[in-house]
Amino acid sequence: MDINRLQNLKNQAISSILDSKSERELEQIRIEYLGRNGEITQFIKQIPSVKDEKRKQMGILLNDTKKAIEDAIKNQSSIISHQSSVINSEWFDITLPGLRPPQGHLHLITYAIKEIAAIFEKIGFNRVAYPEVEWDWYAFEGLNMPENHPARDEWETFFIQDLSSPKYGEAVLIPHTSSGQLREMEKIKPPIRMLNIAKCYRRQYDVSHIPMFYQFEGLLIDKGINITHLRGVLDYFAKQFFGPKRNSRIRPHHFRFTEPSFEVDVSCGICEGRGCKLCKGGWLELGGAGMVHPQILKNGGINPEVYTGLAFGWGVERTYIMKSGLNIDDIRFLYNNDLRFLQQF
Ligand SMILES: [Zn+2]
Repeated sequence: MDINRLQNLKNQAISSILDSKSERELEQIRIEYLGRNGEITQFIKQIPSVKDEKRKQMGILLNDTKKAIEDAIKNQSSIISHQSSVINSEWFDITLPGLRPPQGHLHLITYAIKEIAAIFEKIGFNRVAYPEVEWDWYAFEGLNMPENHPARDEWETFFIQDLSSPKYGEAVLIPHTSSGQLREMEKIKPPIRMLNIAKCYRRQYDVSHIPMFYQFEGLLIDKGINITHLRGVLDYFAKQFFGPKRNSRIRPHHFRFTEPSFEVDVSCGICEGRGCKLCKGGWLELGGAGMVHPQILKNGGINPEVYTGLAFGWGVERTYIMKSGLNIDDIRFLYNNDLRFLQQF
């Protein structure tokens, strides 16, 4: 009897068992080695012809071999059955595309600010940022609104307690972006083309007013700037922002920091200027504009004999609502952070 061959058969059997992936493969291996005509069975059949002194030794060896193969089959069988239960319960298709986390979008007013900035950048206006906590001089006094002047009443101002400067007065939260005008004049010599978009603050809270809102303010100062340029800039904005069919117009008004001053209207997009219940005779009010007052230029260190300027500024929220045609009858919806509202856009 060839003991080396028996050893090789045992190794082959165990190696096949460890490689097998199913009960069916295991059964085939069992038949191949331990079946009625299996390789190991052939050896067992030879035992009666082995000489006496070796018979017992061969018996033990064959028995051990048989048991080793049977144990390996049993072991592998339990591994296979565990793996198949894991695969059945935790199986997933790795080729499926992943689940996307919910994706948000920018706030409507952020979109509006980006759009407004891009429109004015095309005609050379630089977007700037100036302090939102500002001295009285920049917010009022330097804009022709001295202390105790009744014009100040229109700006329901937040004052910063116990913060003031001997030279510039009290500190306030800026009530309008016009406070950036003097800052810009101090920083840059003409020509100036400034676009200041900033948060503004007023003590007000109702359906059309919120205590914190955005304004955008344009300031253009150069030699020979006149009302024609103002008309041109406003009309350009109206057409770019509201659409090519829209027109703008200016009406006389009064502001302390412009002379002459105007209210700016844009033609109604619903009735196209014919007049409807949303507008006043075909026009919607946008906001204020005018030619920079000579005293403001002087306050900013610019000679009004040489330079003239135009300025305009109004609320981002209101302008955006006018454009969108959204029926938002309460401006506070914009900032309530109610996703049911915001996700509509
Ligand atoms: Zn209308």
